[in-house]
Amino acid sequence: MPRKVIIAGNWKMNKTAKEALAFIEALAPKVADVDKVEIVICPTFTALAQTVEAAAGTKIKVGAQNIHWAESGAFTGEISADMLKETGVEYVIIGHSERRQYFGETDETVNKRLVAALNAGLIPMVCIGELLEERESGKTENVLKTQICGAFKDISADDMANIVVAYEPVWAIGTGKTATPDMAQETHAFVRSVIAELYSSEIADKVRIQYGGSMKPGNSSELVAQNDIDGGLVGGAALEADSFSELILNAI
Ligand code: PEP
Repeated sequence: MPRKVIIAGNWKMNKTAKEALAFIEALAPKVADVDKVEIVICPTFTALAQTVEAAAGTKIKVGAQNIHWAESGAFTGEISADMLKETGVEYVIIGHSERRQYFGETDETVNKRLVAALNAGLIPMVCIGELLEERESGKTENVLKTQICGAFKDISADDMANIVVAYEPVWAIGTGKTATPDMAQETHAFVRSVIAELYSSEIADKVRIQYGGSMKPGNSSELVAQNDIDGGLVGGAALEADSFSELILNAI
């Protein structure tokens, strides 16, 4: 079975619920005929329930940007799987580099959040990626392998097959610098080979690997055309319905 392309917009700390609704209203008709791409929007927590409602009956699915591993308790500012499920979201981003950089997220906490998401039946989009100095000093593969082994520790093969991995070179996020399609393909192939080593090539063939890092309408086609690039996790270009729909349509 070919892997279905998945393109997700990560809005980060942008857009109120009202702005989210206006976006969904603008995007829905532009992607009404798109069947080949799974389209996901990830708004802030306060906009989730209303966005799910607005997106019902359209081609747009909704995801959260984070999830906590505990069912409930003294974790100020965090959100549980049950709370997310109640909003109706189907996806969740885990371990984004901004969470790692600013909020102390580690491979271990990524793994715990991943377990909570899987137990709740949410589709996780697990982010990995190297820093600029790691790439420049030839450590990319080591860094990615460590992140993969940590994030997917004790995750079953069945669960692994349904996980989405987002490879996001940190130096390309929000910088306008994109990995060239060849460079991205080479790294995606490496990520898939590590998953094959840990599980099997059958499982690795099923895992969708998104590229993230300054993906835009002008480069989505070439990136998604690569063998091991199965979509994108998009920041800046997902904030406007025009650019996001163009990026999606170009990727088909
Ligand atoms: C991201 O935040 O995951 C991202 C890829 O951002 P941008 O598209 O703006 O580089």
